[in-house]
Amino acid sequence: MPEAENILHHSMEEKRIVIAGAGFGGLTTALAMSKDPAIARHGYDLVLIDRHPHHLYTAGLYEAAAVSRHFARDEYLASSVCIPLADIIRALPIRFVQGTLAGVDVRNRRVTLDSQGTLSYDYLVLALGAETNYFDIPGLKEYSAPLKTANDAVALRNKIEGIAKSKHSLSIVIGGAGATGVELAAELVNFLCVLEREKNPRAPACRTTVMLLEASRDILPGFDAHAVRRITRRLRHLGVIVKTGIPIIAASKDDITLKSGERVPYDVLVWTGGIKGPHILKTLKLPLSPKGTLVVDPGLRVMQTDGRVFAIGDNAWVAHPRTKRPIPATAQVAEQEARHVAKAISRAVRGKPIRRFRTMKKYPFVLAVGRKYAYADLLVMRFAGRIGWCVKQLIQLRYFLFILPWPRAATLWWRNMMLYHSND
Ligand SMILES: Cc1cc2nc3c(=O)[nH]c(=O)nc-3n(C[C@H](O)[C@H](O)[C@H](O)COP(=O)(O)OP(=O)(O)OC[C@H]3O[C@@H](n4cnc5c(N)ncnc54)[C@H](O)[C@@H]3O)c2cc1C
Repeated sequence: MPEAENILHHSMEEKRIVIAGAGFGGLTTALAMSKDPAIARHGYDLVLIDRHPHHLYTAGLYEAAAVSRHFARDEYLASSVCIPLADIIRALPIRFVQGTLAGVDVRNRRVTLDSQGTLSYDYLVLALGAETNYFDIPGLKEYSAPLKTANDAVALRNKIEGIAKSKHSLSIVIGGAGATGVELAAELVNFLCVLEREKNPRAPACRTTVMLLEASRDILPGFDAHAVRRITRRLRHLGVIVKTGIPIIAASKDDITLKSGERVPYDVLVWTGGIKGPHILKTLKLPLSPKGTLVVDPGLRVMQTDGRVFAIGDNAWVAHPRTKRPIPATAQVAEQEARHVAKAISRAVRGKPIRRFRTMKKYPFVLAVGRKYAYADLLVMRFAGRIGWCVKQLIQLRYFLFILPWPRAATLWWRNMMLYHSND
């Protein structure tokens, strides 16, 4: 692409801040720095790299996977979660390069893009997200559907609809009851019932099964007991079969095997059981955590580098100073780390020392649990039900307003709300 050629071959002498990954962390870093006068005053160019031309709004994926074709074609559905980076960057002083990061040469401060050459940097922010972790469980990668991209969501929706056409009652098994598994299970119950009613409006009751399996003792590992209790109750009320403390040890074309020896047949198997650092990190010769994520110092600089490489979001290993456990891999944490790094680089270019990143004792969250119900823990207050759902909608609107001009943000928000709740 011409922009990349220009950057890659004609401007090696520019002072440059390169941000790799335009997800929640990378995009927030770029937007925050583009509004920082110190960056422009000191003559730094901002370059944002991503392999896709869009920003993926992952929080809408479980909804997109449960909208029937009756309401949305594939492209329309995908566009509800894929926001073009061109719309976001507009007139901001950010240069976007579409390309895949293939290497980092820390000593010479250069990144390599797949088939596009190299690009020098003065500061580098790595925000490459995460990959699905299958924990080497035999057959799991082969037979399960992931939910990480817009294509995954559309493919899952289409697969479910395809099977539902020829079968009376469907069995869906979801492995992994973290936030994604819970939101998806709750949404799919309703979706399957809608499909069944479309086929047979006189059907007395919905006969489909959604089973949510979790290897840990409870669903939502790491969440507080109150949330776990309320959400488990809500899932059971919706008709989701919740089984905990039973790891999946193998998957085949038609069933999964649990550690107890039980075999569970399925029509559709979805895996939302874990994430790990992206494969590319293994090739960078930088220190990695057991999960394959980059180990950072208290200022979020990658260890064993010259202090000019930062890592944020899902590809960074940030431990809570007291518990020593990693802080949650969420969009909200990625954004918080991004704001810290934007400030840190701004301080560094002004010759000031970098401050420590402040982790929170507890993180607020909102989880949608079917139809217009959500559990929201805002630390000072907790809501469950329709108020929680309203909180979730407002959080989405606030995010769209942060990344897009307000008419575009409001349109996207309204359009998605109409689309996602067409099934409810
Ligand atoms: C289905 C689902 C639902 C979720 N729901 C929520 C929610 O409701 N609330 C919440 O807080 N969190 C949610 N999360 C978690 C949240 O999406 C992540 O924690 C967040 O996206 C992390 O941000 P990030 O910037 O680290 O990575 P990402 O947002 O994943 O961004 C990484 C970016 O890097 C790009 N990239 C990767 N490799 C390369 C490469 N080699 N070269 C160039 N570009 C590359 C990718 O294309 C991507 O744009 C959800 C996750 C999923 C999967």
